[in-house]
Amino acid sequence: MTIQILGSAACEGIPAAFCECAVCKAARERGGREFRTRSQALIDGDMLIDLPADTYAHSLQNNFSLADIKYLLITHSHNDHLYPAELTNRAKHLVGSTLRGNLEIFSCKLIVDVLCSEIGWLNNTGDNVIFHAVEPFEPFLCGDKTVTALPADHNGRMGETPYIYLVERGGKALLYGTDTASLSDDIWAYFLKRKIFFRTVVLDCTRAGNSSEAHRHMNAADNRAVRERMIANRLADENTRFISTHFSHNGGWTYADAEVNLKPMGLEASYDGMKIEF
Ligand SMILES: [Zn+2]
Ligand SMILES: [Zn+2]
Ligand SMILES: [Zn+2]
Repeated sequence: MTIQILGSAACEGIPAAFCECAVCKAARERGGREFRTRSQALIDGDMLIDLPADTYAHSLQNNFSLADIKYLLITHSHNDHLYPAELTNRAKHLVGSTLRGNLEIFSCKLIVDVLCSEIGWLNNTGDNVIFHAVEPFEPFLCGDKTVTALPADHNGRMGETPYIYLVERGGKALLYGTDTASLSDDIWAYFLKRKIFFRTVVLDCTRAGNSSEAHRHMNAADNRAVRERMIANRLADENTRFISTHFSHNGGWTYADAEVNLKPMGLEASYDGMKIEF
């Protein structure tokens, strides 16, 4: 399985739009891995997690075509994760007869209902967008991958169930875990019941070196605690890659700071374009 971190920032990006704090100033001076766009991941070349407004730029920066995406998993409706207007560019009158196959979109029922009311017309015009409302802890198939939505501890909009996603293929397991505070007891129980062994775990590190936010986001110490608990419960081992991502400038760390501080915790600092094969 391959996961590419297309964007590794929280909502504001780094440097943050309109911000002149020390982290943002350093990022503007240094460029490269210090620049972070809004969070999104590409899995095996045909699956996206989330659809931020940076999606189109991500496809150019990382040399892939959005026409190749068959599956789109949406975590929640915060605007750094869901920019539905991009999907209207898939309309048949804009792309002619070049569309190949379906784009299948998965999320909780409320988000699917909202998408259907806003852009459901894509269904009726031959543009082959199919919406699926999925329930937590109920695995579903995306081609050769099995995906399970797990309830995040994150303040989404009223009635929404923000998800993190477990993605499995050929006995290999990936957890993509933004935006969430620490994992719930139900999730730990599910992992143990299923005896899942993770090769790669991507975790919310919005708050980086600062205090974590209850029911919203983790910091680096929370990521370390997840790693230690997974290893203690044989859900992972020393070779499992733990990738911290979804950084905010309000976490106080540049990329350079993140790399230095996370390494002793057994964690890796993500960056835009980072590719992990396992
Ligand atoms: Zn976010
Ligand atoms: Zn800033
Ligand atoms: Zn969020």
